[in-house]
Amino acid sequence: MSKNTILCMFSGGIDSSGVLHQLITDADYRDRQLVVHHIVLQNRENRAQAELDSVAKIIDYYQKNYSERPFIYTESIFNTSGFAPLSADRFPFDMDVCAFIAGNLAVARKDVRQIAMGRTKTDVASGGDNFRQRMERAQRIFKAVYCLEAESAPNYIFPAINMSKKEIWQMLPTPVQEESWYCRHPQYQSDGSAMPCKQCTTCKEVAKFLPYEE
Ligand SMILES: [Zn+2]
Repeated sequence: MSKNTILCMFSGGIDSSGVLHQLITDADYRDRQLVVHHIVLQNRENRAQAELDSVAKIIDYYQKNYSERPFIYTESIFNTSGFAPLSADRFPFDMDVCAFIAGNLAVARKDVRQIAMGRTKTDVASGGDNFRQRMERAQRIFKAVYCLEAESAPNYIFPAINMSKKEIWQMLPTPVQEESWYCRHPQYQSDGSAMPCKQCTTCKEVAKFLPYEE
């Protein structure tokens, strides 16, 4: 195994579960070490707990079922819920926070030479100029964090770029399908578990290919 490491930014959603699955199962990636990182994003969308529950179960699944492909799992917390008194509509974009944290992890671990992100064929096809501009801004944040290092910055890679969200979902093992979290507005139940809202953009998108009603 080479000393080079791939850093996988993992949200627990369908796209990044597809990336993680590829990195774990595809022989093309086996020559590099793997670090998987989840950012607990605490903000007004209130998704952090639902995502964290999914992440814990999916990580556990891959560690138990793919022991031949070990990886290091780490977490960080980015909390902007304290912005609430500002009554502002804006808070940092997930993509920007992800770029900032990924840059800092790569600075801290110089063996990280590739950053795996969950961009898909669906994003490229339907995202348009707005999505492209946001991607470019995130890349600039990443490169700014890395700009004082002597080494050239690591590259972003997109292991699921040739797949649609539906194709990714169909590829995932059933336990990962069942645990991946996609809803923007989780509905928390009295026992603390979360249910998808069935109203948001991703819920509607996913409903087109889910084989059953949850
Ligand atoms: Zn939803």
